[in-house]
Amino acid sequence: MIIQLDKDITATQKEKLREQLSGIDYEGNEVKTQFGEYLVAVGKKDFDIRSIGMMAGIRDIHRVSDPYKLVSKKWKINDTVIDLGDGVKIGAGHFSIMAGPCSIESEKQIESTISHLVENGISIMRGGVYKPRSSPYSFRGLGMDGLKMWYAKAKEAGLKIITEVMMVEQITDMVDYVDIFQVGARNSQNFNLLDALGEVDKPVLLKRGISGTINELLQAAEYIFSNGNEKIMLCERGIRSYENAYRNCFDINAIAMLKEKSHLPVIADPSHGIGVRAFVEPVALASIMGGADGVIMEVHQTPEKAFSDGQQTLSYKEAANTYLKMKKTFDLRKEFGKM
Ligand code: PEP
Ligand code: MN
Repeated sequence: MIIQLDKDITATQKEKLREQLSGIDYEGNEVKTQFGEYLVAVGKKDFDIRSIGMMAGIRDIHRVSDPYKLVSKKWKINDTVIDLGDGVKIGAGHFSIMAGPCSIESEKQIESTISHLVENGISIMRGGVYKPRSSPYSFRGLGMDGLKMWYAKAKEAGLKIITEVMMVEQITDMVDYVDIFQVGARNSQNFNLLDALGEVDKPVLLKRGISGTINELLQAAEYIFSNGNEKIMLCERGIRSYENAYRNCFDINAIAMLKEKSHLPVIADPSHGIGVRAFVEPVALASIMGGADGVIMEVHQTPEKAFSDGQQTLSYKEAANTYLKMKKTFDLRKEFGKM
C-alpha cells in the first residue's frame, strides 16, 4: 500500500496515521524523495483503504499488491519523465539515444566520439571509466582522471554523459562529473550500491542482472526509489541462456512487460544484448517496436581497435545509419499506437 502524504503534513497527523496503521498490523516505511513524501505500508489484512484516505494530511492512497511498490504502475499510471536539463528528456514519449564507446580510452577518442555525436544530433554520450571485466587482466578503465577530462569536453560540446559506477565509495567523487549513473548487470543486486544511489539527486540507469528476473530488476529499482531517488531508468541488456551462438539472449519480452508493470522509462542495450556487430541494428529496431523509450549502444571510430567490446561496436558510419532508422522506427511505433 502506498500512502502519498501532503507536503505540509504535521507531526501529529503522521503520528495518528502510524497509530491507525499499527491498529491493523501494517508497518509503515517512510520515503522522502525529490518529488514527494510517501508511507509504504506493508501488511496482510484486508481493509477499506478509505478509512486511511480520509485522514488529514493524506494526499492519496493506493493498494499495490506487487512485491515492488513505488516503481509499480499500479499507483502511478503516467509514465515518468527524466529531465536532464537543456531540453534533454527521457521517457513519456521522448526517444533517447545514448551512444559512445564501451570504454573511455583517450582524449583523442573522446574528441572524435563527441564530433560524431554532435554531427548526428545525439545528446547523450556513454562510456566506461570503471570497467567490470570478466578477466582481471583486461583494460579496466581510466578512472576519475578520465572522467574529469571527458566531462569537461562533453559539457563544452553540450552533451550529457552516462557512465558506470561500480562501488559505493566512488559515488562522492563521481557525482559532480556525471549526468546519469549506470549500474551494470553485475551490480544489479548490489543493494548497498542501490541504497547509496537512492541518496543522490542524479538519474540512475539500472541494468538487468545477467540472470536477473523482471521481478528482481523492479525490486532493485525499488531500493533506489525507496531511498529517495525517483529518477530511475530500467535497462534490458540480455540475459544468460543455454544459447551460445551470440553473447546474451536479448529479452524483448521483458521490455514490453516492464512498460506494462512500471512507470519508469525502459532503455534497450542491443550491443550487450546480442554482442554481435552485424545484429545490433535489427535488435535495436525490434526493441523500439517492443516499447523501449531509448537505446544505449556502443560506437567507436575503429571498432576493431576498441579496448573493450569491439565485436559488438558500430563504426560511426554504421551508427549514423542506425540512428536514422531508430528514429523512424520510433515514429512508426507512435503511429501504430494511434491505430
Ligand atoms: C557496459 O555498458 O559496457 C557494460 C559493462 O554493460 P553490462 O553491465 O550490461 O555488461
Ligand atoms: Mn561494453
